[in-house]
Amino acid sequence: MEVTFWGTRGSIATPGRGTEKYGGNTPCVSVSIQGHHIILDAGTGIRNLGLALKDRAKRGEESRIHLFLSHTHWDHIQGLPFFQPLYEPNTHLTIYGSSKKGRFLSSILWGQMDVEYFPIGLSDLAATLEIQEISSREIKVGPMIVEWEEQKFHPGGSVRYGVRMNGKRIVYATDVELDKIFQEGAQERERQLGSYLEFIENADLLIADGQYTGREYQKKQGWGHTSIPVLIDLALKARVKQLAVFHHDPRRSDAEIDELWRLWLEKLKEKGHSITLFWAREGMTLAL
Ligand SMILES: [Zn+2]
Ligand SMILES: [Zn+2]
Repeated sequence: MEVTFWGTRGSIATPGRGTEKYGGNTPCVSVSIQGHHIILDAGTGIRNLGLALKDRAKRGEESRIHLFLSHTHWDHIQGLPFFQPLYEPNTHLTIYGSSKKGRFLSSILWGQMDVEYFPIGLSDLAATLEIQEISSREIKVGPMIVEWEEQKFHPGGSVRYGVRMNGKRIVYATDVELDKIFQEGAQERERQLGSYLEFIENADLLIADGQYTGREYQKKQGWGHTSIPVLIDLALKARVKQLAVFHHDPRRSDAEIDELWRLWLEKLKEKGHSITLFWAREGMTLAL
């Protein structure tokens, strides 16, 4: 499987000189194999992915794309109207998301393309569009299997996804305040911790929300994002092989990310941990 980061920034797009190394586009990750494409979230990064996919559509090849939304906060859906394959007749796009919404997923996505916000409506697209609220335990996309689980600790909730194939597993778990698990009563704490650790256990790659440092988190409790020390601790417990810290704070500069990375590598080395840790960078591709 080929994993590419098209957007790694949380909350709002942050173009500019200070963010050009790790990127300013909001969340979008693609997982592809043999012409099958899974997209995780439709932040502003999906625009560049769409341009990359467009060439294929031009050659007249039918393109089946499966987009899984963690939730519908702006930073995770805002790139969708600019996703070029929507305007290609050979595209078949299925969008999956949580059914646990007060409003149906489709009405939220339609709302975003209301004439007051965007000149083209969802019904005017050339592509064939299907919007599915997920219900079955697993979803098959070509040779890949997608699993999912609701995440409680984010305003309005969110969904984490696992993609597996040939014994390899990628987990995408963003927009969740894992620190909150430890503020729950004993029973709920055990339940939440157990299901998270089980979901990420032995993952070959975990792409996860690590928006705040431990110190920053003290002032951002309840904002729905995880602190880096808690994320790393849980990834170590679950024997994750590679951890991509993701959903970078909009205020975080490239220099600050470099520094965080250096500090944490030193800490892990001192303790003899073998996990591969990095901060996700826009444009980065990994083969698994
Ligand atoms: Zn977000
Ligand atoms: Zn969110």
